[in-house]
Amino acid sequence: MIIIDGAEGEGGGQVVRNALALSLVTGEPFRITNIRGKRAKPGLMRQHMTAIEAACSIGNAECSGLAVGSLEIEFRPGRVEPGDYHFSVGTAGSTGLVLQTILMPLIAAGKPSRIFLEGGTHNMMAPPFDFIERSFLPIIGRMGPRVEARLIRHGFYPRGGGKIEVVISPSRLAPIECTDRGQAISCSATALFAGLPFGIADREISTARKLLDWPDNAFAVRQLPEDLGPGNVLLLESAFEHVTEIVTGFGKLGVSAESLAKTASQRMSGYLGSTAFAGPYLADQLLLPFALAGGGSFTTVKPSQHARTAADVIAMFTGKRFEFEQLADGSHLVAP
Ligand code: ATP
Repeated sequence: MIIIDGAEGEGGGQVVRNALALSLVTGEPFRITNIRGKRAKPGLMRQHMTAIEAACSIGNAECSGLAVGSLEIEFRPGRVEPGDYHFSVGTAGSTGLVLQTILMPLIAAGKPSRIFLEGGTHNMMAPPFDFIERSFLPIIGRMGPRVEARLIRHGFYPRGGGKIEVVISPSRLAPIECTDRGQAISCSATALFAGLPFGIADREISTARKLLDWPDNAFAVRQLPEDLGPGNVLLLESAFEHVTEIVTGFGKLGVSAESLAKTASQRMSGYLGSTAFAGPYLADQLLLPFALAGGGSFTTVKPSQHARTAADVIAMFTGKRFEFEQLADGSHLVAP
């Protein structure tokens, strides 16, 4: 049995999600202690519970210790069953993080699956739907499997109520080289809002316009139906031939529209000013598929603590360690 100290490294929920995915793919059971040991409120939260329940359900797995606040679980995987599934996070917890947990096991399962996920679609500290659809999944597509994601309804914290559909046509994950972005194709800045004053989104766009050297028609405000709100995100998107980077600013009480837009614009400028293929979030999310492909490489900006911790968890299940090599231009080459 693999024993994981959940307080090591990044010490958050990502350790649990990666362990679940790896356990289902490798068939190795694991026990994790000190779950989310580095978070202000350690232990399982509702959204982690849904991820574990989803893993149990697709993988005929058994899990002991499952409860909100639990600091320790033991997970014994069974055979992953592809098929039709519907999981609801119950709160506004992220649908993207549940998807992160079950996608690779379903891709490895050989037959098609269709999943409906309900909860939040644009949550802080989680991949928003747009990122999953246009940044992450196209890379998975280049590795072989076809995964199509559809946004049925937006869901923002705290209301939730969002819904996505994901259709998976599996195939073996092939190693690929992701070191070149290719030519720049398009860029856009969209301020989405629902149930909030128009001025918030307008100020985000004005700030981003001042900071990003993008054409006027790249900037837009999009109002969603009132009843989906309150909710607000600023999506900055830069598409290249081989990769699309999406930086998201999440609106929240106490953070001004200007400050949110400034932070997001600076992050996008940082990415555009580097030669790296993957931004920091895409990088930590690519480790698992690259590990399962057993090869390939990608470049990224400075590897995050998340990425290094994901690499540690992957090594526990596969015995293979990712190398992070700094290149002369400051980017890092990542390869299993
Ligand atoms: P918790 O312990 O509360 O569960 P965590 O530490 O596990 O949280 P995060 O660090 O917030 O979770 O990140 C979870 C995942 O969400 C990571 O894979 C990260 O790449 C991804 N992520 C976070 N923010 C974004 C974003 N703005 N765009 C894309 N992906 C994101």
